Amino acid sequence: MSASTAAPVRAAPAAGRPAVLRERGQREVFCGLTGIVWLHRKMRDAFFLVVGSRTCAHLLQSAAGVMIFAEPRFATAIIDERDLAGMADANDELDRVVARLLERRPDIKLLFLVGSCPSEVIKLDLARAAKRLDRAAASGVRVLHYSGSGIETTFTQGEDACLASLVPELAEEAPGAPRSLLVVGALAEAVEDQMRRLFAALGIGHVSFLPPRCAAGLPPVGPRTDFLLAQPFLAETARVLEERGARRVAAPFPLGAEGTTLWLRAAADAWGVSAARFREATAAGEKRARDSVARHRPALEGRRVFLFPDSQLEVPMARFLSRELGMQPVEVGTPYLHRQHLAEELDLLPPGTPLSEGQHVDRQLDRCRAAKPDLVVCGLGLANPLEAEGIATKWSIELVFTPVQGYEQAGDLAALFTRPLDRRGRLRV
Ligand code: SF4
Repeated sequence: MSASTAAPVRAAPAAGRPAVLRERGQREVFCGLTGIVWLHRKMRDAFFLVVGSRTCAHLLQSAAGVMIFAEPRFATAIIDERDLAGMADANDELDRVVARLLERRPDIKLLFLVGSCPSEVIKLDLARAAKRLDRAAASGVRVLHYSGSGIETTFTQGEDACLASLVPELAEEAPGAPRSLLVVGALAEAVEDQMRRLFAALGIGHVSFLPPRCAAGLPPVGPRTDFLLAQPFLAETARVLEERGARRVAAPFPLGAEGTTLWLRAAADAWGVSAARFREATAAGEKRARDSVARHRPALEGRRVFLFPDSQLEVPMARFLSRELGMQPVEVGTPYLHRQHLAEELDLLPPGTPLSEGQHVDRQLDRCRAAKPDLVVCGLGLANPLEAEGIATKWSIELVFTPVQGYEQAGDLAALFTRPLDRRGRLRV
């Protein structure tokens, strides 16, 4: 995708915060359809119907195909030349596809119509289509819509758009309902189970997760709901939750031993959990996490890392790599920098860490080559050319496909960064 090639702007830093280089230009990022790859595995009775082109279908198949062993819960309704030429009524065709799908798959309880670049180009109104199909669907099936198009979204914004579309579906909190905590952001089931155990040990009750594992698990929301973001890319979801009266608990993200402890502590502080109970509930997990991360430190300490903008996990990742593994971030790029949601993370970055928001890929590649980093974290499109130039790379897509949050995953998270360096070392030998 390309945008204008305006000159870069260096934003004035907030007090004590580093300056941010803002760039616009050619970008190398996935579109929001990619989120379907992990979302369809999380929501067992949901189905994602992309209304798109063969390109969209290929993207999903190549991103997810090798990882799927069960019947997929996603498909693409192809918009063909007849639709694009206005010769066929795309709405009629969509109605037929959805009717066939729901008849064949009675297990579907939540159907997402996912918009794409072609559906936007022909101005197919998926909001209206979702309403129409929702009325026509059997009771117990909800039809929602969101956009995953590359014109509107990048990579992880697809999850944000999907979760935001779920918020109007959440029931109103019952009057006098007890206080509740909502963890927002798709987490692997094993991670979710670990978090539940930790919140139970802290005495924080009524914990629910968005997205839930099935449609029936959609939690109520209201002014007695505190929510904790598990992912840094959920700006729109947070906004619509706040509109429903829920309050965000500000925290760093649960990546690494320190990040997980600070994330849990933010919830514990909001719930008035005593320091003693907090230590008792978290000390063993934090120690296991620190020990497993420490095993990777010798391979990474002092190494220089350059993060290209891709998943919006870049700032928390740079904090983890610098504080727990001793790496030196030479540039931390991110597609969007949500200053409020990332405030606690930004405070933990080494002073003077260069930050960039948006992308002008050629200029950023020039900076990267000039910096000669030991490791580059980037999307698939940049990894191969950089590897060919002799620069070790880590695919940032693995950071969202791999369970990395929480204490028990901290060592696996560190291992993601040691592996490319180890591989290069072996190849050299
Ligand atoms: Fe490509 Fe757009 Fe389809 Fe994404 S939504 S695969 S960017 S055509």
